[in-house]
Amino acid sequence: MSEKVQNIPIAKPCLGEAEAEAASRAIMSGWVTQGPEVAAFEQEFAAYVGAQHGCAVSNCTTALHLALLAVGVQPGDEVITVSHSYIATANSIRYCGATPVFVDIEPQTFNINPVLIEDVISDRTRAILVVHQIGMPCDLKTILDIAHSHNLPVIEDAACAIGSEILWDGKWEKIGKPHGDIACFSFHPRKVITTGDGGMLTTNNPEWDKQFRLHRQHGMSVPDTVRHGAKQVIFESYPMLGYNYRMTDIQAAVGREQLKRLPEIVERRRYLAQTYQQLLVDIPGLKLPTEPIWAKSNWQSFCVRLPETSDQVQVMQMMLDAGVSTRRGIMCTHREPAYKQEAWGCGVVPQDCLCKPGNCQHLTESEQAQDRAIILPLFHQMTTVEQEQVVEVLKAACQV
Ligand SMILES: *Cc1c(COP(=O)(O)O)cnc(C)c1O
Repeated sequence: MSEKVQNIPIAKPCLGEAEAEAASRAIMSGWVTQGPEVAAFEQEFAAYVGAQHGCAVSNCTTALHLALLAVGVQPGDEVITVSHSYIATANSIRYCGATPVFVDIEPQTFNINPVLIEDVISDRTRAILVVHQIGMPCDLKTILDIAHSHNLPVIEDAACAIGSEILWDGKWEKIGKPHGDIACFSFHPRKVITTGDGGMLTTNNPEWDKQFRLHRQHGMSVPDTVRHGAKQVIFESYPMLGYNYRMTDIQAAVGREQLKRLPEIVERRRYLAQTYQQLLVDIPGLKLPTEPIWAKSNWQSFCVRLPETSDQVQVMQMMLDAGVSTRRGIMCTHREPAYKQEAWGCGVVPQDCLCKPGNCQHLTESEQAQDRAIILPLFHQMTTVEQEQVVEVLKAACQV
């Protein structure tokens, strides 16, 4: 590279004084876990996405676990999902003792290909767990039609999709309304807003919301807030096996501030993504992500497919040498050692499978996306100059 550019990270959380003061407020209040800040965050979050209920939990993985339990996923069941996702998606299915059955993706959106879903529905299928991958809404309309015709609940892994929108009956609606049965969000620092760690479930079903609340606090019948305010002695009981999946009030206080920033963050990210689209057309053979006309992504990540002639690791290394951080395309869960043997399915009877380890002939688009795509830096504070640097460095790396 001719001149040294400033180091550009892949992502940066958008946190400031307001969040620090909010955390301090929670600490000084003397109530530091699952109290008034959590309750307020839940209400504000649900109002933002347009859902009737929001239930805060420790992270999105625990949210997915509780969502699957709520729709009745049990040991021996199958849940249809994608391999091409962060491993937590499929792990949450295995926590229920069920088997993830993987469906391939559409190459342009990195999302589940709805056309392939019906082929893998069996009499053991209990639910469909779709992902709005890196913030891009998946084709919910088509998926819900298929799910309804088979009487299957749909859970949305919206870990990355806070602030993304989908065109629904002529109106733009937030992901998480939810359009399926339950949506699950993450507040990990790699996502668009953060509470350090944290998660949220949204649903319009009051019974499920009640069950989330029992499950997240050891199955305890009386929440702390109720016992604290009671004028009479109350003993709690434990009607079911529960977990400790609580969010703290310190996190929720931070989350409430992040929620206030969210519209501006999403607007900025959409602008940055549009700028990338314009700058990157200059690189021959590079394939840019596409947004369906019915979707508005929050662009949690900006993922491009490299030209046929480029080597993924070499491009990433050259960019890193020039001070630009990238990540490879989204992982494929079925290729990880934790997913060897019988942990997953693809609709083929294992005895009839002729695939080599690490490859699945039904998941070729997923594997291609992992091997041929890279994620470029995109964060709220990013400048146009920094974007131009990324593009220049990528262009040089692709021309080697
Ligand atoms: C980040 C992520 C998760 C896990 O979220 P945590 O809050 O870290 O548990 C799950 N699914 C997808 C698609 C993700 O990107």
